[in-house]
Amino acid sequence: MALATIGIGGNIGDAAATVERAIDALHELGRVIARSSLYRSDPWGKRDQPDFTNAVARIETALAPRALLAALQTIERRLGRVPGEHWGPRAIDLDILLYDDLGFEDDLLRIPHRHLFERAFVLVPLAEIDAAFEAWRDALPRRERESVERIVGPAE
Ligand code: ADP
Ligand code: MG
Repeated sequence: MALATIGIGGNIGDAAATVERAIDALHELGRVIARSSLYRSDPWGKRDQPDFTNAVARIETALAPRALLAALQTIERRLGRVPGEHWGPRAIDLDILLYDDLGFEDDLLRIPHRHLFERAFVLVPLAEIDAAFEAWRDALPRRERESVERIVGPAE
């Protein structure tokens, strides 16, 4: 069994509902042992698109990294993702952020995720579920950190 950390984001339609459905779908790939709150973040790279909803989840899985990537892409398609422009609007994006302490790179997969340590919309939710990443989060410029806002649910 491996511990895999998955970054989740989307900005088309009811993105909060889609991110929740994606977390539900992760149960098919293993045991979900932690999940963050939902966060609202500004679009990255291409600015003229809707805000994103982001979260991070950690699963215990028997899937090897490439099989996990394929399974995540199947879930993306099921939840309405269509191929589109890079960094453009998408119904759902599921990225492998970490896989145990593996370092791996080929044409299709790079672990840790290429932008893990520089993106507030990843590090803010990740630090919520894993205190080891608080220092990385806190090293980000304050403006970037504060632009990622926790979405307070109806029950809170
Ligand atoms: P992005 O997530 O960068 O916005 P995409 O979701 O369209 O863009 O992913 C493009 C490609 O990135 C995927 O087809 C996949 O092969 C590759 N990729 C490389 N490393 C990873 C990773 N750690 N997790 C998910 N996809 C990855
Ligand atoms: Mg992706």
